[in-house]
Amino acid sequence: MRKPFIAGNWKMNKDLKGALELTNGLKRNLTDVEDVEIGLFPPALFLPDVVDACTGTRFAVGAQNMHWEEKGAFTGEISAPMILSVGATHVIIGHSERRQHFGETDETVNKKMHSALKAGVLPIMCVGESLEQREAQKTLDIVSTQIRDGLESITSGQMARVVVAYEPIWAIGTGKTATPDQAQQVHATIRSILAEIFGDDVAQGVRIQYGGSVKPDNVKSLMTQPDIDGALVGGASLDVDSFTALVNFKEA
Ligand code: PEP
Repeated sequence: MRKPFIAGNWKMNKDLKGALELTNGLKRNLTDVEDVEIGLFPPALFLPDVVDACTGTRFAVGAQNMHWEEKGAFTGEISAPMILSVGATHVIIGHSERRQHFGETDETVNKKMHSALKAGVLPIMCVGESLEQREAQKTLDIVSTQIRDGLESITSGQMARVVVAYEPIWAIGTGKTATPDQAQQVHATIRSILAEIFGDDVAQGVRIQYGGSVKPDNVKSLMTQPDIDGALVGGASLDVDSFTALVNFKEA
């Protein structure tokens, strides 16, 4: 049985005060939740404060990106050991905004995956097609390549610690959501590729999140799909009430 994982990617939003207000609001509403894993991904600058504020909760806290090297002359970057050193446990790798605006490729995603897993940081690896690719019926090919190349040489043992997020680019921040059927089709394909590479036991245990304009009014229909195990949420994660409603999706 895969435990649902609802994660908020705050992107480049909030100042320190706003980050703590959001964290404390979620803490008030969600500290007792046991049957859903909750993840907060604030800007890297606020990680230590958000980790501190999450003391006494089960919330996972993680970074939105990292470099594949452990240290060195990489101005502006952070590494997996640095993430761990402030008490954070997770990292988002290969978000489409990193791919679109910062030159991230399947090759750099793969280097980051190896680096995170070696250090003991738990990665959420993002994949997803553009609108043009979907309209050209290339969705499954694109996602398959992203999965195979992003996970190149990852072992089955390591894969048990990986979360995959399917995020169609055309649905991110646009208000357009993939229908539950569209999302389920891609999630099922991802799981079958994982089974091919890592074996069925591992594939059945991997959580695959959906991301792309997930809101309180569509979360339940997505989460009832058999291969959708959670959500990676941008906009709706920035507000205490809407993120609370997402975590409480069973009541929607
Ligand atoms: C995201 O950035 O991962 C995302 C899914 O954003 P939004 O929920 O705003 O579409």
